[in-house]
Amino acid sequence: NLTQRLAKVVKTMRGEARLTEANTAEMLREVRLALLEADVALPAVREFISRVKQKALGEAVISSLTPGQALVGVVQQELASLMGADLGPQASQLSFATQPPAVILMAGLQGVGKTTTVGKLAKYLQEQHKKKVLTVSADVYRPAAIAQLQAVTAQVGADFFPSHVNDKPVEIALAALDYAKKHYHDILIIDTAGRLGIDEAMMQEIAALHGAVKPIETLFVVDAMLGQDAINTAKAFNDALPLTGIVLTKLDGDARGGAALSVRYITGKPIKFAGVSEKLDGLEAFDPSRMANRILGMGDILALVEEARKGVDVKTAQDLAQKLKVGGKFDLNDFKMQLMQMKKMGGLSNLMDKLPAQMQQAANGANMDQADKQVRRMEGIINSMTLQERAKPELIKASRKRRIATGAGVQVQEVNRMLAQFEQMQAMMKKLKGGGMMKMMRSMKG
Ligand code: GDP
Ligand code: MG
Repeated sequence: NLTQRLAKVVKTMRGEARLTEANTAEMLREVRLALLEADVALPAVREFISRVKQKALGEAVISSLTPGQALVGVVQQELASLMGADLGPQASQLSFATQPPAVILMAGLQGVGKTTTVGKLAKYLQEQHKKKVLTVSADVYRPAAIAQLQAVTAQVGADFFPSHVNDKPVEIALAALDYAKKHYHDILIIDTAGRLGIDEAMMQEIAALHGAVKPIETLFVVDAMLGQDAINTAKAFNDALPLTGIVLTKLDGDARGGAALSVRYITGKPIKFAGVSEKLDGLEAFDPSRMANRILGMGDILALVEEARKGVDVKTAQDLAQKLKVGGKFDLNDFKMQLMQMKKMGGLSNLMDKLPAQMQQAANGANMDQADKQVRRMEGIINSMTLQERAKPELIKASRKRRIATGAGVQVQEVNRMLAQFEQMQAMMKKLKGGGMMKMMRSMKG
């Protein structure tokens, strides 16, 4: 299983400061395998790996991460950005910036989910955008296809423009457009015929349709289970039509969704929606980061890396490491900083939830909620100290302890216990010569 394979690599090589050819090679091999396993087409995999390499090499490793973890972070970010994370949330919006009716043209092979998606889109546009929607089928080869569109349209309560098997696709589309204008529809969605494979006649037909109705959105519908073939199909449709977006269907299945990466790589167009059910409410705005995680199949590890990235103030951690390296002493200010970082990460109990089951078992027995409370209390005690006391804890004798305890609303024993814990930590830090959060936590778990 991939997550386990990656987890193994992720753990190695702690303590290196930068990502290098040497310490990333094994990891990149795993990532490459992961992508191929997720059915990403080979050219897309190659391009992706080379991009990650460029981004990663020389990047500093946050002290709380291993190079493996740092690389996972780069891989995830780069994959999410390739999936469209950089395009921002508006990338999944449909455009209506035209004189109504705005025309949406659906393109894609047979069986990928075009007709179903027309129904889903009609429902979505009516409910989310209060649009008046008309649908029409230009699939004149199979009477059943027209009836299917009529049925899904009725199901969502949109209007349907009837067509017949002997009609010509372009004429059907123009008649529907005319009807939509006269009846004040905001949107006309045109369903088209697909073939089982790429077919020149089909491409010409849909290109002619496009020329006649000038859609504001031309959506390429692709089945997430299509795997390696997705890249060729996407290329053919992208060459024949000025696509404006992609709909990735059947993501509720167990496909890892490598098709998403292939299609993005070849078309560069935004994936706007994801189909997640046969039912007509099964349409979601596409989420690039979630897709990246799905393709890599390592949600849990990523969540942890992400948490560490967010929570640990890199500068603070590096300053501390530097200070200790040049012989500085770990004082109560540093201790407090570490406690605060722990809090930023959502506390110990939150972190524990994210660890893989085996690690959780290894740490069992420790009561994390209790530990979190303890952390908050220790912070309160430090807050009651003067700056001088924090920098020179050895100043803190009996009378000062009493004052601090009163200030923090605790017993003097609590202050003693806290100082003892601090001294333990100080000793440990001396040994570690400036490690960070993760090191500290690991040793706390024993
Ligand atoms: P078309 O030939 O491109 O028009 O494809 P259809 O809309 O007829 O869909 C083909 C099959 O895929 C039907 O059985 C649909 O119910 C199913 N389907 C479409 N979209 C999805 C989806 O997002 N999830 C699942 N599980 N099935 C879907
Ligand atoms: Mg159809």
